[in-house]
Amino acid sequence: MTRKFNANKLVVASHNKGKVREISALMLPFGVETLSAAELDLPEPVEDGLTFIANAELKARSAAEKSGLMALADDSGLVVPALDGRPGIHSARYAVNPETGKRDFAYGMEKLEKELATIEGDRAAYFACALSLAWPACADYPEGHVESFEGRVNGTLVWPVRGANGFGYDPMFQADGYDMTFGEMEAASKHDISHRANAFKKLIHACFS
Ligand code: IMP
Repeated sequence: MTRKFNANKLVVASHNKGKVREISALMLPFGVETLSAAELDLPEPVEDGLTFIANAELKARSAAEKSGLMALADDSGLVVPALDGRPGIHSARYAVNPETGKRDFAYGMEKLEKELATIEGDRAAYFACALSLAWPACADYPEGHVESFEGRVNGTLVWPVRGANGFGYDPMFQADGYDMTFGEMEAASKHDISHRANAFKKLIHACFS
């Protein structure tokens, strides 16, 4: 049976301020106080998992173990089946411009377009988000415990890219059934249908109801 959330504090296992803000806002209606991994000075574990869920779990487990509190982590990315799933779990790294050594999504989207052009393949893609909620070790669970949920949104990659809203690969991604890219949509519309919202709904349904 799914374990239910049973604390009044939660560590958001991320050093990314944007993610911490977004997750803290989503937790507000549940009366949960959130603390960030950076605030608690928790170390960032090496993300060497082979799936989104494996990486979300290792981040959540590490934060729960080091803090002794419940922890929530997210791992996400863009998957292109015609490119054997790339950039996938390496979505952030894929966009690092070798000339500057910095993450640059204009560069990342152009790189993706060049790869798509070489295979003349299907332009279908999806965003995936894994959310893992971890409990620290206790008498009943000496190894700790984790519950994980994955959300997706299917779409197509467009070129040229359109829109300046959102972040990352948003201007290149058009969700199925919509004529705007995530980069053109208002934040609230994207958040209604996004991979993160989808994973979050599953988490709330399973662990907070
Ligand atoms: P993470 O911080 O390791 O989970 O990396 C996630 C990466 O996936 C981000 O840096 C973006 O490149 C990409 N990504 C994840 N979610 C989105 C989204 O909603 N829009 C655009 N890009 C996203």
